[in-house]
Amino acid sequence: MNPDLGELKMNNKSFMRYGFGLIIAFILAACAGAQDESAEEGPERSIIEIGDDLYRAQNGGHYTVFLVTDEGIILSDPINTSFSTWLKAELDSRFGLPVRYVLYSHHHWDHASGGGVFEETAQFVGHENMIGQLAMPPADTTLPSDAQGMDSNGNGQLEESEASGFYGAQFALFDEDANGVINGAEATRGALKDVVPPGITYRDRLIVTLGGKSVELIHTGNMSHTDDMSIIRFVDPSSIFVVDWISLGRVPFRTLFVNNRMTQGSGMLDSWLNAIRMAEQLDYETASGGHGVVGDKSDVTAFRHYLEEMREQVAEGIAAGQSLEDMQASILMEPYSDWINYDTHRTLNVEGMYDMLIQ
Ligand SMILES: [Zn+2]
Repeated sequence: MNPDLGELKMNNKSFMRYGFGLIIAFILAACAGAQDESAEEGPERSIIEIGDDLYRAQNGGHYTVFLVTDEGIILSDPINTSFSTWLKAELDSRFGLPVRYVLYSHHHWDHASGGGVFEETAQFVGHENMIGQLAMPPADTTLPSDAQGMDSNGNGQLEESEASGFYGAQFALFDEDANGVINGAEATRGALKDVVPPGITYRDRLIVTLGGKSVELIHTGNMSHTDDMSIIRFVDPSSIFVVDWISLGRVPFRTLFVNNRMTQGSGMLDSWLNAIRMAEQLDYETASGGHGVVGDKSDVTAFRHYLEEMREQVAEGIAAGQSLEDMQASILMEPYSDWINYDTHRTLNVEGMYDMLIQ
């Protein structure tokens, strides 16, 4: 730790937090203005303090959290390489401290990528099932069904000219060996090239301690979204970070992870709801997610109620012989109409719930 910075921090902590932040915000605004003329505008980025020394950092619709201690920084998801590169520069200038731990919520590419930026100083921690999720399938694995239709020359792999949709957009992250084609194994594994595997894994619970502060990783059990999901619980300040399977002030993603081969699939609503109940039983004063707003336990409970109320209404619709389209038109979930993505994802949520209940 830079001793000058440490003294500054002790003598004038609020200036460190807000004064520098304002200066940085001004510089960033100036840079953003300059970039607008020449480059495409990137995702919105910000850092806000949500508890003493606990911060939430934003990359567009994705968020992570980090805790600043006297001995370094404990970061949760690194999100992606571009964001982590930006974040590292912010952490260096604001705190002059290295990231000592990266605590993964789960292995998915859009949250777990980018940790390589912190590899020189950080240890990586995640649930033990992350190892299997990141492993390359056998070399003779064939292209998954959603990629087979793109393989126009029928050679069993996707050239860059063939890859479209998600495969095209994230071609380099699929192409683990960087040989210019996505083979069946790479397509099946996912866009995971920038995910640094955890060097420290755990099964049920693990406590990480740094600079006198403790952070707990708690496995949610296997459920709809993935089998390697951790709740990240900060003890002081008391806060949890939860990603994708709970969002605060935001309706669930699309079809509730049903019929999405990148997640664990369907039929696991009960285990999902049980995991949310487990999260409700933990001790914390604030909660934030990889998406959505910052809130508290009542927002976690509200998210469970959303799923339960939708399940009840869809079950009633099925019993009354209604079509999916009827239910998408009539199940309005009005108490939640101010949540993020309500307008775009509510009908998809009804579809996912319908698919789960008729299975
Ligand atoms: Zn995910």
